[in-house]
Amino acid sequence: MIQHWAELKSYEIKGMDKQDALVIVPIGAIEQHGAHLPVGTDTIILDRLMKELADKRDFPGYRVLIAPLIPIGKSNEHSDFAGTISFSTRTAMAMLSEMCASMRKHGFERFIFVNSHGGNTDLLNVISRDLRIELDAEVFVFDWWFTTFWNDILEELQQSGDYGVFHACELETSLMLAIRPELVDMAKAEDEFPDAILTHGCHVSLKGPIIPGWKTSDVSSKGVIGAPTLATEEKGSLFLDYAVRKLGEMLLEVLNTRYRK
Ligand SMILES: [Zn+2]
Repeated sequence: MIQHWAELKSYEIKGMDKQDALVIVPIGAIEQHGAHLPVGTDTIILDRLMKELADKRDFPGYRVLIAPLIPIGKSNEHSDFAGTISFSTRTAMAMLSEMCASMRKHGFERFIFVNSHGGNTDLLNVISRDLRIELDAEVFVFDWWFTTFWNDILEELQQSGDYGVFHACELETSLMLAIRPELVDMAKAEDEFPDAILTHGCHVSLKGPIIPGWKTSDVSSKGVIGAPTLATEEKGSLFLDYAVRKLGEMLLEVLNTRYRK
């Protein structure tokens, strides 16, 4: 069963068997996405993914709750570009921690952050360990930017090369063409790739092993990293179906992974 936290009544939450319940905490971002995508891209994609997940997956025998989506994250790397709204690292960490602490107080002890913005990932990894210790909770982080999540379908569909899928890119633009096409202006889509100095070093590059602390204007003049001109609505629909299916499979494994001793 999947339920939206905000749609439940207090007594329903009070009376729930919480020991095995998993609470999904979705977090997105409001930040510039070039001239062709809206600033809410990460949050819009995540919101749709959560809705499809709730509609299409059931998880019989399990209880899954979706907490209210946090639409703003840590996006200070985009702060040179208009429209970006960001929490500081400290504020984002405090907010997420206090949200989980509130839910822990009511008896929930299993959480997963489901994240659609790469700039949130590092702080979520830090928080998950802190909350494991401070709340004696099981805390998972799902991130699709720095994991293998998209690999299978990108192998089939990606037409751009290295760095073609990164930000406001072939992937995100395709997803937005499938989800909210009226918000996408493909006439303004322009591909842009980071300078070789940050992509082709033997040791120093955006993908490591030595990663510079970078902001978007260091690597992009238009706010795009990748190849949005290769995006299509058809690819976007396939990406979305894949994400719903794969996230469902992954959540089932999380539901069965009790690691707290
Ligand atoms: Zn994005």
